[in-house]
Amino acid sequence: MSHLMNTYARLPVTFVRGEGVWLWDTEGRRYLDGLAGIAVNTLGHAHPRFTAALGAQIGKLIHCSNVYQINEQELLADKLCNLTGMREVFFCNSGCEANEAAIKLARMYGHRQGIEAPAIIVMEKAFHGRTLATLSATGNRKVQAGFEPLVSGFVRVPYDDLDAIRQVAQHNRNVVAVLVETIQGEGGIRTLDIEYLKQLRQICDEQNWLLMLDEVQCGIGRTGEWFAYQHSGILPDVMTLAKGLGSGVPIGACLAAGKAAGTFQPGNHGSTFGGNPLACVAGLTTLNIIEQDKLMSHAEKLGRFLHDGFNTALQGVKGVKEIRGQGLMIGIELDQPCGDLVKLALAQGLLINVTADSVIRLLPPLVMKQDEAQQLLDILCPLIKEFLQT
Ligand SMILES: *Cc1c(COP(=O)(O)O)cnc(C)c1O
Repeated sequence: MSHLMNTYARLPVTFVRGEGVWLWDTEGRRYLDGLAGIAVNTLGHAHPRFTAALGAQIGKLIHCSNVYQINEQELLADKLCNLTGMREVFFCNSGCEANEAAIKLARMYGHRQGIEAPAIIVMEKAFHGRTLATLSATGNRKVQAGFEPLVSGFVRVPYDDLDAIRQVAQHNRNVVAVLVETIQGEGGIRTLDIEYLKQLRQICDEQNWLLMLDEVQCGIGRTGEWFAYQHSGILPDVMTLAKGLGSGVPIGACLAAGKAAGTFQPGNHGSTFGGNPLACVAGLTTLNIIEQDKLMSHAEKLGRFLHDGFNTALQGVKGVKEIRGQGLMIGIELDQPCGDLVKLALAQGLLINVTADSVIRLLPPLVMKQDEAQQLLDILCPLIKEFLQT
């Protein structure tokens, strides 16, 4: 019997090594990775330049402490701010921690203005993590049930509905921020249009609210820009990152700009592991390789190739509701629950995921080549058709 807490319904497969977009299990079987550990393995598996940089850093220094200066952390913060126009960065180890930092920052921002019970607008179907504050911000009862009392101070509105936000602005004087995923991941790969983001930016400016974007899943080059909000030309006040930033090494980040910058002072927030030299070299090397190998424009092109491939193969297939997403963040919504497709694909040597019950989710490594994407299409499209026919 396993001594692990029963927090995951795990598939019956164990991987022992990987290379590029391929993984091998204990039996020597090979699998095509269409999920990248849920948008984590940006550079695929065992990327030679990445593993060399990590190996060199492990031989020098893995961890010291945030009571000292950490050069690698300074460099990664410089890099992230250069890529975004944000001003400052707090490093942690995961997406929920990055969002915890954002939520704490928004509350302190409110308190500084004399708002004693600051509130944050959050979205239906949102996912922000599983700590108490972030599961309270999450818009999914399955994530919250059994953990009440929830953290208070969140006001929920429908995703992609500016009027709902304007109504809250009229009635609630305690709001200090809006927290929203630029593209909803767990909620079923739902995108916001450019106009929504521009107008939301304007509302936040008028109301003196912080615009806080959760790019934990959609950030780091996956959509064809460094960050998904950059398609719209706006700048958020706060942005959170994690998943793909370290290509598998745990790292999270909360970035602040404009009126959000300078909120935290020593003693307000912290993390023992956050931003240690190893994690920051993982982040820096990930960003450098994305840049050197032009993986953002590649993600955009390959995303279009996959999108077109699915559109062609699944056009007119009864039961396929919508194919959506941006770059290498793709969702295929069916008209029925399709969790079983994950096992069927696994049996064919393909790793995919299903979220929100009926949305097939693809988040492949950014290094996937076109012939590999073609293999993905060749396995998955017939599988979807067969699944819908039976
Ligand atoms: C995965 C995810 C999180 C939580 O990240 P963890 O590292 O699992 O804590 C938060 N927000 C979004 C949008 C995510 O996709």
